Amino acid sequence: MNKKVAIIGAGLTGLSAGIYLQQKGIETEIFELSGNAGGMCTTWVRGGYRFDGCIHWMVGTLPGDAFYKMYLEVGALEADTPIHHAESLQTEIEGVLYEVPLQLEPFRQFLLRISPQDKKKIEHFCTAVSAMGVKTPDGFGAVLGFTKQLIPFMRVLKRYTSMTVREYAEGFQSQIIRSLLCDLMPPQYTVVGLFMMLGMRMCGNAGYPLGGAYDVIGRMETKYHSLGGKTRYNSKVDEIVVEYGKAVGVKSGGQFYASDVVIAACDMYDTIYRMLEGKYHHQQLETMLDSAELFEPLLVVSFGLKQKLGIPDALTFNYAQGIKTAPGLIADRIFLRAYDFDPSAAPYNGSSVMVLLGSQLDYWQNLRQDNKEEYQQQKKVLADTVAKALEDRFPGFTDAIEVVDVATPATYVRYANLYRGSWEGFAPTPEYIRAKIKNTVEGVDGLYLAGQWTTVGGGICTAVKSGKDTAQTISHDLK
Ligand SMILES: Cc1cc2nc3c(=O)[nH]c(=O)nc-3n(C[C@H](O)[C@H](O)[C@H](O)COP(=O)(O)OP(=O)(O)OC[C@H]3O[C@@H](n4cnc5c(N)ncnc54)[C@H](O)[C@@H]3O)c2cc1C
Repeated sequence: MNKKVAIIGAGLTGLSAGIYLQQKGIETEIFELSGNAGGMCTTWVRGGYRFDGCIHWMVGTLPGDAFYKMYLEVGALEADTPIHHAESLQTEIEGVLYEVPLQLEPFRQFLLRISPQDKKKIEHFCTAVSAMGVKTPDGFGAVLGFTKQLIPFMRVLKRYTSMTVREYAEGFQSQIIRSLLCDLMPPQYTVVGLFMMLGMRMCGNAGYPLGGAYDVIGRMETKYHSLGGKTRYNSKVDEIVVEYGKAVGVKSGGQFYASDVVIAACDMYDTIYRMLEGKYHHQQLETMLDSAELFEPLLVVSFGLKQKLGIPDALTFNYAQGIKTAPGLIADRIFLRAYDFDPSAAPYNGSSVMVLLGSQLDYWQNLRQDNKEEYQQQKKVLADTVAKALEDRFPGFTDAIEVVDVATPATYVRYANLYRGSWEGFAPTPEYIRAKIKNTVEGVDGLYLAGQWTTVGGGICTAVKSGKDTAQTISHDLK
């Protein structure tokens, strides 16, 4: 008889697992609480504008990379999907706007111009960045060829994984370079994350596929369905049913759906404490959910502009007046992304601009629960304040606005059930970056954990890979 797998979550992980399992002839059904596929790889479509709630840089966009091959397998990319590579990032430090090149040699020269006295440190920095800018090997032959690159790569990992961005930045004499590094990556994260982000982007292996998250998810969903996979949207799973120590299916909307295997490709707090009712243990996850650092909850303010204003792809700047993102929480730095480069982001040759601000979950969640009108009002106040900040910077901005959208930390929780609004799971701090999270739960056979909560730091490539690996394990175990 055909084996059946129930998958909880239609994010990148759930879709990827579903695609690979269907390809192996194993029947699958995905249960998704929201009305769409995508999870955190989402896009808000408003009045013809697309606000890409995910992709800034997607590791593995270089043909020949193992992740690239995997993206082609699941349909996340097609061989002719154009990839956009930003040439630079702009950031304002102490009132001066710096354009940070995303090519190694110009980057080295840029840093040397800022601080010639940091020459030795800059050389080390560039060596580390270059060592992390590699293609993930695909196949045995490629692994052999990778050996030459592997040595410096491993050396960097060994030496720097335990060091935070802040600690590394402190080694520079120049205050500007110190600020710059902490601007490029949160200061408490492992500095290896910074090396990797820069290295991958500089070697052209972490671009932005035109069409963004909308097309990535659309293609994966189509592929999954074309292989016979079934999706149930607006179907929150309330229970993973366990009988005699084995997962035998899921309950959603009061109904039981039998399966031979269950994949939890969703939030792990919900899995352990609600869907398994806290009856089964995963000591490591429980400890991490209790004490590991999570990603800071986000406010995302998006604008559809009827014309392009020449706003750079990525810009961080100071806003002295500050923006209140929760009571007692003022953001005086604004991080924005503009999508002039992607024609699919806006109709009539317009553009979309998104501002991301760190915030706090409880305030927005309580407000939404207790007083929806005031919640909407505060979203409007926020959008107006951000629009004013952008008008000050880019005259004509408010006149160009056609559509406004605000997502709060409460939106993320409502939309994808995220624990504490952490949109990428556990933060990549030195303490946890090496954590290998077990993908099974003690005392429950036939249940596999997958996705961004099982790989510290999350991300697109890790989610798709996690789905693939889980599918491989299951097809082996079901034989
Ligand atoms: C603002 C932002 C920017 C990002 N930028 C990047 C980037 O530039 N590069 C990069 O690599 N990554 C980035 N990411 C991270 C990346 O999007 C995620 O790591 C990845 O999409 C996670 O996929 P997932 O399938 O593991 O989890 P999720 O996307 O969280 O999917 C889980 C799914 O499970 C569903 N679900 C949860 N509970 C239940 C339940 N009880 N029943 C049914 N369904 C349930 C959810 O609704 C969701 O659809 C970004 C994310 C965000 C939010």
